[in-house]
Amino acid sequence: MSKTKDRIHNSQLQYKQGLGQNFLYDEDLLASLVTLAGVTAEDDVLEIGPGAGTMTKHLCKAAHHVLSIELDERLIPLLTAFMESYDNFTLKQGDVMRLNLPELTAGLRKPFSVVANIPYYITTPLITLLLTAGLPLKQLSLMVQKEVAEKVLSGPGEDGWGMLALRCQYLCEPRLALDVPAACFTPPPKVDSAFLVMPLRDKPPVTVKNEDDFFRVAQAGFALRRKTMTNGLCAAFHLSREDALGLMSAAGLDDRVRGEKLTMEELARLSDAYTAYREEHA
Ligand code: SAM
Repeated sequence: MSKTKDRIHNSQLQYKQGLGQNFLYDEDLLASLVTLAGVTAEDDVLEIGPGAGTMTKHLCKAAHHVLSIELDERLIPLLTAFMESYDNFTLKQGDVMRLNLPELTAGLRKPFSVVANIPYYITTPLITLLLTAGLPLKQLSLMVQKEVAEKVLSGPGEDGWGMLALRCQYLCEPRLALDVPAACFTPPPKVDSAFLVMPLRDKPPVTVKNEDDFFRVAQAGFALRRKTMTNGLCAAFHLSREDALGLMSAAGLDDRVRGEKLTMEELARLSDAYTAYREEHA
């Protein structure tokens, strides 16, 4: 048993399943995760859910500064003691979904990286939050459920192709860096995991007139998965069938195609057609 695991066991701390507490104690695995995350002495890092601080310690050794957010109040004294000798570490107690992240991270070197073995009960909302909060990000390196990693990497027409994949691929270049079996965690979760590494792109792979429209149009297509994109447009934007057909035609798309089959380029064309329509009818 590792010393940290001993310490956690001695503190009689019960892992809280509801907080996604599946900890990593394997020092070799932790070191390779930090290497895969490409953290350098120039980088500041935001960590979500430090838990017992096992990954935090490796991050502090590699990075310029580490800011960790932990919700579980029981872990704060343990973490404070464990990280005492690191002067490049800041701990914030709170719920990552409720904190003001731009304000909290304002003091970090820009752009900063996020590296975390995240709590799985908030995977999709957390990735979405990190990508939409206006943070100056360099890279997200996240332990997620294997199924979520596959979803993020999926393409048009595949089951996983949806808002999460589109947003991640529009803003980042995601790759599955490492498969991590459930047995590596204490306690083991019900599913296998994967370490997803997502460097932010300098610019998106498609250019759109209005990004909000792009994501709203995509959402319209993904929301009604078994229906046509034309029907999705009618439902989401209260368009007449004639106007929706006009947009499909302006984007050069077959009016019977399903939204979930559209590529990022096709969604971008449709989004531009919708932006032009919206501005004309404002
Ligand atoms: N980093 C540690 C490790 O790898 O062993 C722990 C990872 S564990 C999967 C997730 C951690 O996130 C737990 O420490 C849990 O208490 C914390 N957590 C859960 N929900 C949170 C939230 N909403 N905001 C911040 N931390 C949270």
